[in-house]
Amino acid sequence: MEYNIKQGVELRKKTPEESEQFRVNLLRKHLSHAATSPFYRTKFSALGIVPEDITSLNELPSLPLTSRTDLDQNPNGFIAATPKEIVDISLTSGTTGMPVRIPYTKEDLDRLAFNETMAFWGASIRSHDTCLICVTLDRCFIAGLAYYSGLINLGAATIRSGAGQPARQWELIRQLKPTVLVGVPTFLLTIAQWAINHGFNPAEAGIRALVTIGEPIRQANFQQTPLGIRLTETWNATIYSSYGATELETGTCECDVGQGGHIHPELSIVEIVDEQGQLVPEGQSGELVFTPLGVQGFPLVRFRTGDIARLHSSPCSCGYHTPRLGPIEGRTAQRLKLRGTTLYPDSIFHVLQEIEQVKNSYVEVHNGFDLSDEVRVVVGCTAEVDLSEIEKLLQARLRVRPEVVAKDPAEVMKVMTEQGNRKPIRFFDYRKNKQYSNPTVSDSQ
Ligand SMILES: [Zn+2]
Repeated sequence: MEYNIKQGVELRKKTPEESEQFRVNLLRKHLSHAATSPFYRTKFSALGIVPEDITSLNELPSLPLTSRTDLDQNPNGFIAATPKEIVDISLTSGTTGMPVRIPYTKEDLDRLAFNETMAFWGASIRSHDTCLICVTLDRCFIAGLAYYSGLINLGAATIRSGAGQPARQWELIRQLKPTVLVGVPTFLLTIAQWAINHGFNPAEAGIRALVTIGEPIRQANFQQTPLGIRLTETWNATIYSSYGATELETGTCECDVGQGGHIHPELSIVEIVDEQGQLVPEGQSGELVFTPLGVQGFPLVRFRTGDIARLHSSPCSCGYHTPRLGPIEGRTAQRLKLRGTTLYPDSIFHVLQEIEQVKNSYVEVHNGFDLSDEVRVVVGCTAEVDLSEIEKLLQARLRVRPEVVAKDPAEVMKVMTEQGNRKPIRFFDYRKNKQYSNPTVSDSQ
């Protein structure tokens, strides 16, 4: 398939009805190719599924879902390319379980670049922009490479800075004057904080856009989280949240309107399902299921991401008609049931961001009585805090009141980093019958 920006924009302005036939053809082609991998060949033939017979997108929900366990148990079963065709081998970040090796063909890399080109284009980034990429480009991660190749296609200037070292990042910002920063929200705030501590004002650095990944900066109603607000104000820039995962080889990114990430119509079909795998009504939250169209090396069909989000199908005021993916609200494996209310650790962390004295925090969960979980929130505080005030704030925002315990921030950090993971662990799951090995790493996307 040929990827070009002009055609991409035209497609995004079409109504779902107008683009249906084009997308059905892509789906059929995708399913036919997926059926050449051992996993889907076996599965489709056992269920009598003939990809060539698909005539409507409405038939997709009748196909089987693919779980992360399927991937973990037999990763090689999903490969649909020959060793000769494979040009890049990436690893999933190992959020929940062992990393899985994802082989990319040359066509997959072109497709991934187009994904990011259209994402940046939707975020009003153009060839005259200079973009500082503050995420890892090596170490078998794909996100940094995807951003890089997408920006190259767009004709923008890139600075491959990579992750870490706020002092060095600030120096690059001063010297090379980028207009766009790409990075993880908390790290972009760390750079700003470093600058402020050294007598500079990030708001005057000339950064006009922040493209973020890995942490939500909005709540389900699209309002920015305290972290999102702080980032926007500190950098005096517009923030665009993006979402992606290595195995999806596709992502979404917000436009100027900031009402969810636009789904690329020629690269993916997104569904939201409940715990039983059934589609939920529009606007309701559930598990995000992705079918990344046109992938050659590792084609997936209806992949359960384990992320919780909502889908919004009304036309966007930016002019695009493609569905938008709402902010990630949590992970299915981290679903907490507290006295009849379902919530996710992320929503607790969003509330804690409002309290200045709270420097870091994690959540512990044990089995409670009556199918309710026993949730304990451990906060690292430098100054004296009134714990009952924190509990009251949680109650006001989340309608439940978990127990809150205060510790020294250094002690909290020690617990979170004890296991030597890439990111500090913020969620400790001690429940029986939980989905993944103990404790679960909170490292969404
Ligand atoms: Zn839009």
